[in-house]
Amino acid sequence: MPLLHDDRLFPAHPDTRALARSLYRSVRDLPIVSPHGHTDPAWFALNEAFESATALFITPDHYVFRMLYSQGIPLESLGVPTVDGTPVETDARRIWRTFAAHYHLFRATPSRTWLDHVFQEVFGFEERLCSTNADAYFDRIGEALARPEFRPRALFERFNIEVLATTESPLDDLRHHRAIRDSGWPGRVITAFRPDPVVDPDYEGFAGNLGALAELTGRDTSDWFGYLAALRERRAFFGAMGATSTDHGHPTAATRDFSDREAERLFRRVRSGECSAREAEDFRGQMLTEMAKMSLDDGLVMQIHPGAFRNHNARVFGRFGRDKGADIPMRTGYVDELKPLLDRFGNEAGLSIILFTLDETAYSRELAPLAGHYPVLKLGPAWWFHDSPEGMRRFRRQVTETAGFYNTVGFNDDTRAFLSIPARHDVARRIDCGMLAEWVVEHLLEEDEAFELAEQLAYGFVKQAYRL
Ligand SMILES: [Zn+2]
Repeated sequence: MPLLHDDRLFPAHPDTRALARSLYRSVRDLPIVSPHGHTDPAWFALNEAFESATALFITPDHYVFRMLYSQGIPLESLGVPTVDGTPVETDARRIWRTFAAHYHLFRATPSRTWLDHVFQEVFGFEERLCSTNADAYFDRIGEALARPEFRPRALFERFNIEVLATTESPLDDLRHHRAIRDSGWPGRVITAFRPDPVVDPDYEGFAGNLGALAELTGRDTSDWFGYLAALRERRAFFGAMGATSTDHGHPTAATRDFSDREAERLFRRVRSGECSAREAEDFRGQMLTEMAKMSLDDGLVMQIHPGAFRNHNARVFGRFGRDKGADIPMRTGYVDELKPLLDRFGNEAGLSIILFTLDETAYSRELAPLAGHYPVLKLGPAWWFHDSPEGMRRFRRQVTETAGFYNTVGFNDDTRAFLSIPARHDVARRIDCGMLAEWVVEHLLEEDEAFELAEQLAYGFVKQAYRL
């Protein structure tokens, strides 16, 4: 029996289901536009074979190991490297067996949907992963990965990806993006400018990062205006390397609009390494407004991804470092927080800001009303913990009546797991088609409008919003 049902995620009622199917058929084969994610550009630059099923599905995917960890499986046994270099499990097959023995933990989670999709569509499995077939899975995936048609570039083409954005720090020299460009391979892999390491005083190594920024640009980053000039220069470089967007992962959506003198004083404080939590927050907020100002000049679309309490588990952070599945959503406000930036730039025709949230209570209370009014604002799709069938439904139900469809930007897969990209876009297309079908059956939309929207949600909006 196949792992995937053709009608998965569609509405249960036969009339709605029939329409959802035909809407879905009209968008199923559209190219994938992936404007925000965290795949490694080295994969496409070097085009080397992926190592093993374990390196592909477990080690890079914090959705996978956070669930295993929550059930008492040590990260060491999953091969997650330690910061101090103390040894961890390195036998990829053993790690895979541990994962397979616990595959039931993922029942009804989006990870399960994505994994089953890859197992069936990419590797041809029809039997659910379990302890008994763990070795067979591991071997068959390993054999496939050694073949040329499973190299990163071949998969990129097979997945019908029109454009894929990665995310890099301003301190990155973008050598892999350059190599991709120089290689003559036509796949479009672009970068996005993620300045957190040099604009967030609480980011690990912030002071050293400012030094590295000075070295890269030849600007004096101990001076406020030299620092801004250095950032402007790196943005121009990223833009020349294909970036169309910036991305800001601040703890809150706070913005500030200080005078030059106040901003200079604040910059001296954060550079000293002795700033208070309040001053760090003020500085990040000021930098969002500075970034908006720069976006007006260079046209990069801003994405604001606030509200994650990063590295919540101090012990895991100390032993394994960041991005280990210990990030937890926080209550997040937007109305007061964005006001200083919006007072300054909220009505600019040339600026575009895409807002994301991990706090679903903000959808109908704050985000939809803001995006339904301010010309500069659009809403990013259901993100991270909410990038799931129910999360996508909640998003549409709570924002559409106030923000409409046209203040949203299509789908982002936001993933490190390259092979899951088609699966994630497929889930989004199915859910959107199911919801459009329901609205048609309720006579809220005409059928022709639903077909037009299905295409916009899958393909049109994202290209427009990210200027791709
Ligand atoms: Zn992201």
